[in-house]
Amino acid sequence: MNPPVDEKETGLTGVVVLGATGSIGQNTLDVLDRHRDVYRVVALTSNTQVDRLLEQCVRYRPEFAAMADRSSADEFSRKIRDAGLPVKVLSGEQGLSEVAALPQAGIVMAAIVGAAGLLPTLAAVKAGKKVLLANKEPLVMCGHIFIEEARRSGALLLPIDSEHNAIFQCMPAGYRAGQVPGGVKRILLTGSGGPFRSHSAETLENVTPDEACAHPNWDMGRKISVDSATLMNKGLEVIEACWLFNVLPSSVEVVIHPQSIVHSMVEYVDGSVLAQLGNPDMRTPIAHALAWPERIESGVDSLDLYKTGKLEFEIPDTDRFPCLKLAYEAAQKGGTAPVVLNAANEFAVQAFLDKKIKFTDIHAIIRHTMTTLEHKDSGDLETVLEMDARARNFALEYVNDQLHQDRRMTK
Ligand code: NAD
Ligand code: MG
Repeated sequence: MNPPVDEKETGLTGVVVLGATGSIGQNTLDVLDRHRDVYRVVALTSNTQVDRLLEQCVRYRPEFAAMADRSSADEFSRKIRDAGLPVKVLSGEQGLSEVAALPQAGIVMAAIVGAAGLLPTLAAVKAGKKVLLANKEPLVMCGHIFIEEARRSGALLLPIDSEHNAIFQCMPAGYRAGQVPGGVKRILLTGSGGPFRSHSAETLENVTPDEACAHPNWDMGRKISVDSATLMNKGLEVIEACWLFNVLPSSVEVVIHPQSIVHSMVEYVDGSVLAQLGNPDMRTPIAHALAWPERIESGVDSLDLYKTGKLEFEIPDTDRFPCLKLAYEAAQKGGTAPVVLNAANEFAVQAFLDKKIKFTDIHAIIRHTMTTLEHKDSGDLETVLEMDARARNFALEYVNDQLHQDRRMTK
């Protein structure tokens, strides 16, 4: 990989942060702030958070900023002009994809939430960047395209999801995403079990979005928080692991670990089990991937094992949390099944956050969409985007025509 234009001139590595105003984006800027002698922020992006992006531009002085939402971009442009900042403003999905491929950046943090991150992240991969992958949904939809394009362009894919970053750290030295890992028998993917781990099936029906977003160990965006509460996040992570580590779904076992200290494990054929441990703080995987293969300070406190006391492990309950089972089914089926799973989930989670459906409707909507919509074996980009759109429309129709009608009838 040749050093990017900017690095040759300044000696600093240029970084683009896609989804800078979100939870991962802000944590990334926190780590970068500690290493201003090594990294320089080249571009920041957001969807609609004008004021937060403006504050970030004042602090980090990027050359570019992009907003996906065009009217927010107009408002943001005016504010940038009023503040007299020399920031070039781009807008729309195309603007995001453009900054993701800027020649002056060597590293791109992909931290947009959901399928919206697919094209900008793919642009970074195609441009041969070191891509830090937090945005798991595009991998779930079409991991094969990401692995293939990275192979073609020489891009380096480094996982940020704490579990996948842990697994990556437990892989043999020199391991690259997408390779068949030598000597690996099984991946043990840990998950806290979310805020409703001990709730009965009956009480789950009436939980609120705020309760679902109150994660016991991690402070995250609202979409992934709901996914953690339904265990769909673990399901998406199983599919993510299959692509990143070239294993079958049957080789990935989910283990509930309420303390969130062991971030995942890799079992080798000789019986060795390697684990990565640390406090639940996303700055650890972010710093690991930024500096890889070296190490830099992240601002995370030392792990106090005496304070932690116990490390517990449980089998996940897929009767109470059927989303995990649905994700395994989609992973095993392959083709467009994970695209449909992801799209129906994104739609259902947003509907739940908007208080239009119940928590327990989420899995019903996904199941219905998965079983009714036709299946395609092939997964080129066009098919993936088409199936994504169809699954969302289908899920919307199902909620409007069936779910809400049934409820009106039973009232
Ligand atoms: P978040 O909601 O806090 O932030 C999302 C970011 O994406 C924001 O900057 C937002 O402006 C931007 N965005 C939203 N919709 C967009 C759109 N349509 N087009 C362009 N940009 C858009 O989310 P987060 O918690 O930071 O999560 C980001 C990604 O990282 C998700 O895919 C999530 O699964 C993954 N992840 C997050 C964590 C975590 O601790 N937060 C951990 C592991 C993985
Ligand atoms: Mg995770």
